[in-house]
Amino acid sequence: MLLIDSHIHLNAPEYKTNLPILLNEAKLRGISAWVMPGTLPQDIANLVQIANQFPHCFYSFGVHPWFLDDLADDWESILTASIERYFPVAIGECGLDFAKGMVAKQLAIFEKQVQLAVKFKKPLIIHSYKAVDEVLKILRKYPKATGVLHGFNGSLQQLEQALALGFYIGIGGAVTYSRANRMRAILASVPLDRLLLETDGPYQAGSYRQKGEIHEPSDLVQIARYIAEQKSLDLVELAKITSDNAINLFSLEMK
Ligand SMILES: [Zn+2]
Repeated sequence: MLLIDSHIHLNAPEYKTNLPILLNEAKLRGISAWVMPGTLPQDIANLVQIANQFPHCFYSFGVHPWFLDDLADDWESILTASIERYFPVAIGECGLDFAKGMVAKQLAIFEKQVQLAVKFKKPLIIHSYKAVDEVLKILRKYPKATGVLHGFNGSLQQLEQALALGFYIGIGGAVTYSRANRMRAILASVPLDRLLLETDGPYQAGSYRQKGEIHEPSDLVQIARYIAEQKSLDLVELAKITSDNAINLFSLEMK
C-alpha cells in the first residue's frame, strides 16, 4: 500500500523529539510520503532540514493567515528567493481565515502568494475558513492557478465552484466524527480524481484520538480507512488513487 499525507506539519514542536520514530511507524503502516506546508518564512530552514534528513518529505513555502503578526515586511523577497533556491513542491499554506483579524492584510498577502504560485508554476496549498467565497473570488482572477483546498469545510455549492476551477480537495480527520454529516456530504461529492488525504498533524482532530492527544503521522491510515469505506473502495485502491493525485498535483519525485 502507498499512502501520501498531503498536509502535515512535521516541523511542529510536538513532533520534534521523536520524528524518526513517528515517521518509521507511519512507514510501517503504508505511508510513503509527506507534504509539509510552511506557515511563515521562518519555517523554511527547518523544513529544508527535515527534507534533507528524511526521504519523501516534501516542503511547501508560504504565509498562513493566522501568523501575520509574526510576518516580516520583506516576506515576499525572502519567499521568492527561497522558491528559487529550494524548489518547493507548492506555495502555502496560504489563504484566508475570517474567524481571525486583519482581513485586508490577509487578502493582500494571499493574493500575492497566488501570483507567486502562477509565476513559478507551483500549486497552492490553501487554508480557508469562513472565507471560501473570497478565496474562490481571488482564484477566479488567476485561471492558471491550481492547487488544493485543504481541510475543506465549505458548502456543496462552493465545492462545485472549487472543482470547476480545477482544484483538489483535501480531507482529513474531521470527517470521521459521527456528527460530521456535512463533511460526509462533501466527501461524497468529491470526485476520486480530485481527492487528497491529509492528517494536518499535529493539529486536526479525528474521532480515533482522545481530546488533547497528539495526532501522529500514522493517523493517516485511520483517515484513509474511513474514507475508503465512505467511498465504497478497498483501502489499497483508495491509497493508490489519492497518492497518484498527490504525485500529479505536486509533481512528487517518488524514486
Ligand atoms: Zn495546516
